[in-house]
Order: sequence, then structure tokens, then C-alpha cells
Amino acid sequence: MKQARIHCPYCGSLATLRPASAIHGLSDISAGTYLYVCRRWPACDAYVTADRRTKQPLGTLANGDLRHKRILAHHA
Ligand SMILES: [Zn+2]
Repeated sequence: MKQARIHCPYCGSLATLRPASAIHGLSDISAGTYLYVCRRWPACDAYVTADRRTKQPLGTLANGDLRHKRILAHHA
């Protein structure tokens, strides 16, 4: 798989492609899903979901607070 080189907008560290199960634990939701995770995770809580097929990041890395705001925006 081809990994994109993206950096965390919060701390500047390189993000690495990891299975979602390594972050969220094994579940139906995380099965087969990959995330770009900040190298400083979990100290830096920033990651973004990767496309299942192309393994390209779906947007930019977000920390927990921004993800929460995105969820709220969906409800608005
Ligand atoms: Zn970071």
C-alpha cells in the first residue's frame, strides 16, 4: 500500500498509517479501517481516517476537540 506523507497540524510530527483497531480496539467499525495517526499519539490525540481502497487520508488530522465540533456540525 502507498502511504501518504502528511504531518500533524498540531505538533508537526509525521503521521503514520495504522489499523484503526490499534487506536480504537477491535470492533465491527474499525475492522478493515486504517487511520493516519500522529507519531506522538496518544500524547497528541490527532488522526484522520484513510480511504479503505486508496489508503489516502480523508481530510486533515483532527484532535478530539475538532472531531467533536465536526459531529456537532453534522447535527446543525
Ligand atoms: Zn501531533
